[in-house]
Amino acid sequence: TDRVVSADFSLDDASMDSIRPRFLEDYIGQEAVKQNLKVFIQAAKERQEALDHVLLYGPPGLGKTSLSMIIANELGVQLRQTSGPAIERPGDLAALVTNLQPGDVLFIDEIHRLSRPVEEVLYPAMEDFSIDIIIGKGPHAQTVRLDVPPFTLIGATTRAGLLSAPLRDRFGVISHLDYYKPEELMKIVKRTANILAMPIDSEAALEIARRSRGTPRIANRLLKRVRDFAQVEQASVIRLETAQFALSKLHVDELGLDEVDYKVLTAIVEKFAGGPVGLDTLAAAVGEESGTIEDVYEPYLIQMGLIQRTPRGRMATERTYRHLGLPVPGQTLD
Ligand code: ADP
Repeated sequence: TDRVVSADFSLDDASMDSIRPRFLEDYIGQEAVKQNLKVFIQAAKERQEALDHVLLYGPPGLGKTSLSMIIANELGVQLRQTSGPAIERPGDLAALVTNLQPGDVLFIDEIHRLSRPVEEVLYPAMEDFSIDIIIGKGPHAQTVRLDVPPFTLIGATTRAGLLSAPLRDRFGVISHLDYYKPEELMKIVKRTANILAMPIDSEAALEIARRSRGTPRIANRLLKRVRDFAQVEQASVIRLETAQFALSKLHVDELGLDEVDYKVLTAIVEKFAGGPVGLDTLAAAVGEESGTIEDVYEPYLIQMGLIQRTPRGRMATERTYRHLGLPVPGQTLD
């Protein structure tokens, strides 16, 4: 997608490497997760052991990749980065793990998308730091057990529920990343603005933060676009008026909702009389994949109280009607 409020990674974000936090102290928010990791990292270092395997789950753009880079930095080890779909065959995984140095971090993004045969190789690698390789074919095939250096697997996924139980059970640390509060996103926006050498005042930073769907990746992206407006105005500091003007030009409303969110909410209200409506039916009505609705749009809308998830399907809430500027059904005006 090319939505400016999409939490998915886009090429535009690739140039943002310099703004990634490097150490825990630059990583804003997620306090509980950070406090725990700090202890586990220090303990592993003191014992000179690899850190236990870590599973990070939460919506896209909340800092899972950044956090795994930070963990490697804090441990003082190398990070190898890959993703579930990129590891096609068991041999690919075997090559990856046998090339690690003791203590290294292997980061697998979208770990719920590993194929079954690859997962089977991963189990003993995680548990006993060994892998079974089959050499030869047919009656002469032999299984050879190879040791791999002790390493830390960090898996990232948008939904922990998509992981197979045996894989999930092999993680010693399971951490859930949650949407950021506006005050935390404001700090992130200010930090990024400093790195980009375009200062921003607090009101403007908070305005961007409020419209970023609780997501640092979106906050940074909106900041970049707002910065363009400020630069063209030849402003030396980004102020509230510029931020509001730019954000309205980008069609991002005060809750961070864009056209697709409006399509979803309007469909529930107008086509399905406020619901309940099943996910697939809803997805078809707005022309999006149901997986995309479930992973990307809906979690934030639920968080904001704009969609309610019931066993019979998705429903509009009072807040949905108010946000769309429609009368709330069954309520009289007084
Ligand atoms: P994910 O892997 O969960 O999709 P990323 O780690 O790629 O998310 O984070 C997206 C961007 O948001 C990063 O480039 C980083 O600059 C920024 N970011 C994420 N979390 C934080 C944080 N806690 N503090 C500061 N910046 C953050």
